[in-house]
Amino acid sequence: MITAVMPTYGRKDVVFERGEGCHLYAADGRRFLDFTSGIAVNALGHCHPYLVKALAEQGAKLWHTSNLFRIGNGERLAERLVANSFADTLFFCNSGAEAIEGGIKLIRKYQYVNGKPKRYKLICFSAAFHGRSLNALAATGNEKYLEGFGPANPGYKHAPLNNANVVRDMIDDEVAGILVEPIQGEGGIRSATPEFLRTLRAICDEFGLLLFFDEIHTGFGRTGKLWGYEWSGVKPDVAAIAKGMGSGFPVGAFMATEAAAKGMVPGTHGSTYGGNPLATGVANAVLDVILQPGFVDGVHERGLYLTRGLEALVAKHRHAFDEVRGRGFLQGLRCVVPSGEMVDRLMSLGMLVVGAGENVIRVFPPLIADKATLDEGLAILDKAAASFATKAA
Ligand SMILES: *Cc1c(COP(=O)(O)O)cnc(C)c1O
Repeated sequence: MITAVMPTYGRKDVVFERGEGCHLYAADGRRFLDFTSGIAVNALGHCHPYLVKALAEQGAKLWHTSNLFRIGNGERLAERLVANSFADTLFFCNSGAEAIEGGIKLIRKYQYVNGKPKRYKLICFSAAFHGRSLNALAATGNEKYLEGFGPANPGYKHAPLNNANVVRDMIDDEVAGILVEPIQGEGGIRSATPEFLRTLRAICDEFGLLLFFDEIHTGFGRTGKLWGYEWSGVKPDVAAIAKGMGSGFPVGAFMATEAAAKGMVPGTHGSTYGGNPLATGVANAVLDVILQPGFVDGVHERGLYLTRGLEALVAKHRHAFDEVRGRGFLQGLRCVVPSGEMVDRLMSLGMLVVGAGENVIRVFPPLIADKATLDEGLAILDKAAASFATKAA
């Protein structure tokens, strides 16, 4: 018999009852170190007192009014995000996929209002992940996720990551823009090189295309800078953000330069919930913490510490791990043993991580994790890796 919750996920058999900082507590009494951060969502960990207070206060005042009216919290949040990014303007939505959809619409409209209505295609990359709605899925291009859902929506071509020549060869009079993750998450923590991103910028400028960065999991300090693109110095025309933005409260946005947003006039896009007072109230509180002087630099610094710790584990346990990827608190360990088994072993030892492509496990501590918490994680990873050696012997 089908479960009441549609069975589209392969879930671990645990129900969490309570979260506090970097730890989760299960209904059966087990305690876990949470290095999934809800897949790069719980930026400030679980039930951060400042966020709990902001949520409760806004919850007692006003939740939702619709976008028929001005929303003070949203205007303030937008102004702060604009002041702290490449963007001049943004549109609020509720998830990553919606942010991608909106960005795609913006790019197509930009070409249309600039007299290039035939341009609607995006160049995307192999092993990308952009979400599960039909266009985000077509942009993702993963055959497994697309199977059985009819023909993929038209307008997406895929090039290998970090090969600018292939991208250049794909450009024709129907290409409108390029969509890329500064660091691919789902794909296995694969980084676009700064040089590649600089070349994409140059290609976009040369051909009148818009450069669209998917910053959904690289944004909000996760890589040790506020935005992932800052590592390359390359600024996009459009970016999608979500995940860490609400630290667990569903909220997202697509951001753009004024020039790129030229066609987004009244009536061109909308969302019932998007940017409501509750969501943007919480997101403002998240930003209060993340924008504190030294907060993101602290993630960078502790990220280096984490990298060194993970590299030491690779050197010690060659039978289990063979590579560290990523930066900041967005890191991956490529496994020699099946990554799914590593995830399960870690869970049995009280630590939660999430798998990714290329047999990688993602190590995503909440951004508030201090060195002692990172050490706790490294010690469990050490124990898990050692347990595979024992089994092999
Ligand atoms: C999670 C993710 C998405 C999709 O976000 P949803 O909120 O699940 O729709 C898109 N792109 C990237 C890079 C992501 O990590």
